[in-house]
Amino acid sequence: MMKLGIILDMDGVLYRGEEPLKGAREAVDFLKERGIPFVLLTNNSTKTPGSYREKLLRMGIEVSEERIVTSGLATRLYMEEHFKPGKVFVIGGEGLLEEMKGLGWGIVDVEGAKEGGWRDVEYVVVGLDPDLTYEKLKYGTLAVRNGARFIGTNPDTTYPAEEGLYPGAGAIVAALKASTGEEPIIIGKPNEPAYEVAVERLRSFGDFDEVWMVGDRLDTDIAFAKRFGMKAVMVLTGVSSLEDVEGSGTRPDVVLTGIGELPEYIEAELGEGG
Ligand SMILES: [Mg+2]
Repeated sequence: MMKLGIILDMDGVLYRGEEPLKGAREAVDFLKERGIPFVLLTNNSTKTPGSYREKLLRMGIEVSEERIVTSGLATRLYMEEHFKPGKVFVIGGEGLLEEMKGLGWGIVDVEGAKEGGWRDVEYVVVGLDPDLTYEKLKYGTLAVRNGARFIGTNPDTTYPAEEGLYPGAGAIVAALKASTGEEPIIIGKPNEPAYEVAVERLRSFGDFDEVWMVGDRLDTDIAFAKRFGMKAVMVLTGVSSLEDVEGSGTRPDVVLTGIGELPEYIEAELGEGG
């Protein structure tokens, strides 16, 4: 019998904005009832897993904080695993700042940087920053040019919001790439650090010998699945459409109209009573 583990994207899969998508709660309950290990993985670093848990709860979807992996948390776990402690300069939102404080390595903020603290910075970590300023870019640039390691939480250059496509973390990372001439390590989907962190977290919920990635974006979720040998399950409730699939070299293994179809699809693949 195949043992399944599932990584689910959130935005465009479980909800859009503040609206839960049809069948999202039932699908999550199904995974819990069946004891199928699953984690939720988002490239967004502006919020903490705790605030995502609350957001989901407002929609009637109950998951523990341990099941939620943001690119901010993934960045922290990856840094803990691979890097030596050193001071961090953050260009990012509250969620990322909290994760970086959680490292306990020390934070240099803009005020500290102004007083010369940028010279002591060993890591410049860049995510989506709704309060981006020239000063942050300036000190981030100076620190990277001074030898600090350059890390980006996720590659998304845009994200869909009310008025259209807004600049994403990838756009801010691109600014620092331009001003430093350095290539960053990018943590989020479709990259290897996100895979390493998500699969390790998945393992804490049980054994599996096959992983499915359920997502709405071809360039992140589906590319991520294909790159790391996961089954790519695409839903049509988010960013990418069937037309996009036809025009793309990245092909999902299966397309569902929405998350509501996932339980039935799992039953069919695992077999009755499996
Ligand atoms: Mg999504």
